[in-house]
Amino acid sequence: MTPYADLHCHTTFSDGSCTPDEILDLAVQKGLKGLSITDHDTVAAYEGLEERARAKGLKLLTGVEFSTTHAGESVHILGYGFDLASHPLLELIERHKNRRGGRNRAILEKLARYHMPISEEEILQLGHKVIGRPHIALAMVKKGYVENPQEAFRKYLAEGKLCWSPGEIISTEETIAIIKEAGGKAILAHPHLLNNPPLLQQLLKLPFDGMECTYANFPPEKNKRWIDLCERKQWLQTGGSDFHGTLKPQIAYGASYVTEAQFQLLF
Ligand code: AMP
Ligand code: ZN
Ligand code: FE
Ligand code: FE
Repeated sequence: MTPYADLHCHTTFSDGSCTPDEILDLAVQKGLKGLSITDHDTVAAYEGLEERARAKGLKLLTGVEFSTTHAGESVHILGYGFDLASHPLLELIERHKNRRGGRNRAILEKLARYHMPISEEEILQLGHKVIGRPHIALAMVKKGYVENPQEAFRKYLAEGKLCWSPGEIISTEETIAIIKEAGGKAILAHPHLLNNPPLLQQLLKLPFDGMECTYANFPPEKNKRWIDLCERKQWLQTGGSDFHGTLKPQIAYGASYVTEAQFQLLF
């Protein structure tokens, strides 16, 4: 299998440490011919990017990673190949912006109650369009409340922990419908991370177009289960590194990828 495109990464528009143009350069360095950028709940990275990708000999596929909830559990959905000007999609992105504003404030209030005050300005000044828990974790390290981001997640910010807040619920089903309405493909992200068999069974009944079968640093023997499942369901197979740069230093750009044939099916 020749690596053709890495379909999952984050930029400085969400919780990655590289700009979109730095991602293009990484794709060229890795010898890839295509890519998608999948920031959390925003498509801001795509502004003027297609031309700049083409100039570097790269084919760009539109992408996004939406945070959704199904049966009370967090589920990430990747959207690919959608129309960037789709109104329902842009409205959903606006809802996410509001959702994150309220959720981040709720998390900061909880941290203050545990004597770890952080002001909204302190996380906004990081200058990212979409602010999430990784930014709050970094602020906690900077303030000396925790040793490292992992400790911040483990003790306070991970799902269900002391200072976590789910925020407004945006459903998995609605998100799938909006991606499809925008002409895109809705993909169940990183099933490898779901430790909940009943939830997986429910998700498999939803109208996804495909599944992220090859993911991050997972070896072939861990991906096989998802590839076999996709073949049975005749779902599309996608793959990507989920590169976040220095925010997840253990994962290199291009660690997982798709072939040319898999890439072409997503347009
Ligand atoms: P949010 O978008 O605010 O819900 O934050 C989700 C992001 O936080 C994920 O995409 C990861 O980058 C990061 N994250 C989630 N759980 C952990 C964890 N246990 N340790 C470190 N980072 C995490
Ligand atoms: Zn992330
Ligand atoms: Fe994710
Ligand atoms: Fe991701």
